[in-house]
Amino acid sequence: MRKILQETFLEMIRRAATDLPPDVEGAIRRASKAEERGSTAAGALGILLENVAMARAESRPMCQDTGTNTWWIHHPVDVTAGTVKAAVLWATRRAVRLGYLRPNAVDSVTGENSGDNTGVGQPVIHLEQRARAGMAVDVLLKGGGCENVSGQAALPDFSIGAGRDLDGVRKAVLKIVDFAQGRGCAPGVIGVCVGGDRVTGYELAKQQLLRPLTDRSPDRVLARLERTLLKESNELEIGPMGFGGKTTILAVKAVKAHRLPASFFVTVSYSCWSLRRAHVRIARGKPTFSDTSFLLKAGGR
Ligand code: SF4
Repeated sequence: MRKILQETFLEMIRRAATDLPPDVEGAIRRASKAEERGSTAAGALGILLENVAMARAESRPMCQDTGTNTWWIHHPVDVTAGTVKAAVLWATRRAVRLGYLRPNAVDSVTGENSGDNTGVGQPVIHLEQRARAGMAVDVLLKGGGCENVSGQAALPDFSIGAGRDLDGVRKAVLKIVDFAQGRGCAPGVIGVCVGGDRVTGYELAKQQLLRPLTDRSPDRVLARLERTLLKESNELEIGPMGFGGKTTILAVKAVKAHRLPASFFVTVSYSCWSLRRAHVRIARGKPTFSDTSFLLKAGGR
């Protein structure tokens, strides 16, 4: 099992780093057609698509920032957490040696680079044991520039007239998108968590980035919020890389979590256009790769 996990996780990293998922590429392609022909926005999106094709053809990373290596792994009782973590660390180090990942993990006090993309809290591994046989695994390579423009609001926010209601949520999310002004390499995809605490808000918002861009929340209220936020984000006309244009955000994915009556957090996990993810199910020692998560249902966790 150890060898299967190591090789499967390595292949997941390679796919995520070098092969943009078809739903994300399709959204960029549609956006480039929607922008005015000859505009800077259309040109920027065209360059992104060329870059995606080159990375795929050469199996090279799409971006010099290969992102924070973040895993969600559901494993059966007979595969220990230690075995799974060791396989992730092996795959990460090997991916650096093969050039799929850049050595990006630095000591936060000394600035020293660990050289192999591992360190305290790196990679990020979320483990959950399940009663069923087999494993389901998602990996997300989350860029640092877009992590910088992710944000969290505590409602009410009187500076924008945002109360503790859905309209307040809408205003808080738009404030975060507006603040980014194309930084974090727009067009982006945003995961939104309504409620939770400060930690679960970020966790659940980031997890929404695993959802296909074409799905919508099964919760009608959240589905409407996703549509409204997508439309109003793009009406800001910040555009690709902040050059202006119709495409600031490619998709919005929202989820909700219970909260204490005393707090109302709204959390946005902002992903750049380079939304790098890979998914696999391992059954009877055989991996099956997929373009979409085996675990994450729309709007769920
Ligand atoms: S935000 Fe994304 S596209 Fe921009 S530099 Fe970072 S990883 Fe690359």
